[in-house]
Amino acid sequence: MSAPPIHLQNSRPAPELAADESARGNGAGPRQPGPERHDTAVSPAQATTSSARPAITLDPRTYTRALSCVHCGLCLPACPTYTETGNEADSPRGRIQLMRALADGNIQPTASVRKHLDLCLDCRGCETACPSGVVYHELIEETRFRFNEQLNDDPQKRRASWEDNLLRWMFFNVFTNPTRLKLALLPARLLQKIGVYPLLRSMGVMKLLPPQLRKMEQMLPPDGPLWPKALPERVIEAGGSGFAPVLNALAGQIGAKPLDGQAPRQRVKVGFFPGCIGSVMFESVNRMAVEVLAACGAEVVTPAELGCCGAIHHHNGEHHTAQNFARRNIDIFVPPGGPIVDHIATNIAGCGAMLKEYDFLLRDDPAYRDRAREFSRRVRDISEVIVELGIPTMKYTVEETVTYHDACHLAHAQKVTAQPRQILAAIPGLKLVPLPESDMCCGAAGTYNLQQPEMSTSLALRKLNNIAATGATSCATGNVGCAMQIASEADARGRQLRVVHPVELLHFAVFGPPRANNIKLR
Ligand code: SF4
Ligand code: SF4
Repeated sequence: MSAPPIHLQNSRPAPELAADESARGNGAGPRQPGPERHDTAVSPAQATTSSARPAITLDPRTYTRALSCVHCGLCLPACPTYTETGNEADSPRGRIQLMRALADGNIQPTASVRKHLDLCLDCRGCETACPSGVVYHELIEETRFRFNEQLNDDPQKRRASWEDNLLRWMFFNVFTNPTRLKLALLPARLLQKIGVYPLLRSMGVMKLLPPQLRKMEQMLPPDGPLWPKALPERVIEAGGSGFAPVLNALAGQIGAKPLDGQAPRQRVKVGFFPGCIGSVMFESVNRMAVEVLAACGAEVVTPAELGCCGAIHHHNGEHHTAQNFARRNIDIFVPPGGPIVDHIATNIAGCGAMLKEYDFLLRDDPAYRDRAREFSRRVRDISEVIVELGIPTMKYTVEETVTYHDACHLAHAQKVTAQPRQILAAIPGLKLVPLPESDMCCGAAGTYNLQQPEMSTSLALRKLNNIAATGATSCATGNVGCAMQIASEADARGRQLRVVHPVELLHFAVFGPPRANNIKLR
């Protein structure tokens, strides 16, 4: 759908856009709003052209969101890029001004303007901090979509860098397809299994790769199955002891009453969303999540037809493909006949945030609008479902000091901060210690760490220093991207740190060590 042009004019003067590169943070500075400095790279005066033709045409609803910014600056200390550079153009307030000025035709998308907008993590820390309710992510995501449309429409404007083109091709064609991702990882996994991989690393062979590919290599977890298996389509805890669980399970398969004569429990039906990267890189955590949900008394279904949530496409300006993924997933869990599950749960914050926003993504699609709303209403982070169903009985202790990092797409996009901590605090033996700046982005941000490795690494270092200050031996976080980012950056610096999903610790407390799993599933 192409939005009508907007004729609203920027009624306020743009703030001065600061850019003193010498003021870059060292990755460990305090969260203070930096001084505003004059930006020699991007100033409205330089970027302004005599043409009043808007550089981008924003949907008027999105543009109106930008108008609610009152330039108070309260979001600045919450913005990771601003805290690193001290540059107003790298702050939410500065970026909102840039996007408005682009839409008003006051500036053109010069390389400098693009640089400041591209550096945004879309972490949404500014939204949590903003007292005026600015929904920043809609603005940056639509701006990226409009830029992308222009690139797709005009071959002359195509991205020049082959690394950029290769990365985008991999995001859209490999990362979002579990079978292709497994195939792509197979050689590296084979080298890991025969022990050659660490040797290649120690010989510095990986340093020959371009920075983005080096970062990708760095994030490969040190172990994992050669070919991760798909989750079972249906999982229920059978209950009972001895042969009863097996016989009860068989009885359940043919629709008969359990052998103990008790009527089957009314179970909450949870649709589990494994995610495409999650189902390959996070396969064991997904499996644990399903087992924990079953231990909570839920019936868990994971239809094999589920596809990507669409987040990678959506955040990279491929809006229409994201919408198609949304339609496919809605058809599975909320078909025209009505929803087939009570909740849709995921243990990946990035996927959860996207799934919760299908209603927004398809708000202009009359065929899907209502079902999209119904779908989004049912989406929960796994921690929300566990707390709602009741934390299962725990028989094992976890003697560890753990700190918790809030994934941006859990804390800022979904506003889920209490439940993961509630689960961790309930685990016997576990000492939960607070993490300074726990809700500051670690630099992962979906595919950002591959596209902006320098800023991503600075933010990771900041996170690692904060974790080290807690004295914790483990860091728990509810997002696969954050887990891979923090673990790989710790590893690259030789720091001893275990990075886990809260579900892994809960699973241990409920079931004991891996392979000693005593749950009876059917
Ligand atoms: S989304 Fe994150 S990086 Fe972007 S402006 Fe907001 S706080 Fe800053
Ligand atoms: S806190 Fe909100 S209103 Fe204030 S400058 Fe930031 S985005 Fe604008």
